[in-house]
Amino acid sequence: MKLSEVVSQVVASRFRPEPRFIWPEGQRCAAMLCFDVDGETTALSEDPQLARRRTLMSQCEYGPRIGVPRLLGLLDHLEVPATFFIPGYIAEHHPRMVEVIVARGHEVGLHGYLHEKLAYLTEAEEEAILVRCIGVLEKITGRRPVGFRAPWFETNPWTAGLLARHGLSYCASEMGDDVPYTHPNGLVEIPGQWLLEDWEQFAFNADPAWGSIPENCAKVFDLWWREFEAMHDYGCCFVLTLHPWLSGRPSRVRLLEDLIRAMQAKAAVWFARGHELASYVRAHPEARREIDFDRPVSISR
Ligand SMILES: [Zn+2]
Repeated sequence: MKLSEVVSQVVASRFRPEPRFIWPEGQRCAAMLCFDVDGETTALSEDPQLARRRTLMSQCEYGPRIGVPRLLGLLDHLEVPATFFIPGYIAEHHPRMVEVIVARGHEVGLHGYLHEKLAYLTEAEEEAILVRCIGVLEKITGRRPVGFRAPWFETNPWTAGLLARHGLSYCASEMGDDVPYTHPNGLVEIPGQWLLEDWEQFAFNADPAWGSIPENCAKVFDLWWREFEAMHDYGCCFVLTLHPWLSGRPSRVRLLEDLIRAMQAKAAVWFARGHELASYVRAHPEARREIDFDRPVSISR
């Protein structure tokens, strides 16, 4: 038997469980493209003394100055919406960037002020930063942000309570599932995962030592495409997290173009912004299919 015949037999007999989630209008899965526009804050939150390291700072500035406009061009070209999580400090220093992101139809969400590590803050400190950043984004965009991505993907036990108390609709920071879930206080969680992050694939800086050797785009395409394709089968929510200082580099913009085009070519994918996902989850609690040991496994093809 030829290898291609073996492969097609395997694909035909593949385990395809019930979709984890019933997505709108017959869509098979959802895709949320996230851009965390950290700029210089990743370095400055680590050590304010790094502000004198011009090469490091300029590498970080590449994100908002070069990466974001280039990525906006790609998103326009492919006609897909995205969600940009922006620290308050970066929004204040690049207000025009924020205005243009909104004008192009994308969502702007919260991402700390200086990309603070929440694990080292008290609840009161975290709340003060949240309130300050809501004000910063509201002043620039004219609307109150409804979404939050924790810097470093790390939250505290009280974070969901703070977000709900200040009127946010969703958090996109935990990793407890591959479809959205709802916190007991009603806040929607849109979980991500480290596999679908560009930092692990592309980040590198000599001193301070960040990341490791940048990966080949072909390997990263394969990594992300395999996860997307399987998530499509499983009816999941594909949450891709990208940083413009990394994914705004030319070959990686091309990688993203290839990936999104391949996703678009696959039928029934709902490209959604965070607030759309959260509204849908809130309006359709029955959409979520729970997994438990006692639920019989049924296989659909
Ligand atoms: Zn970040």
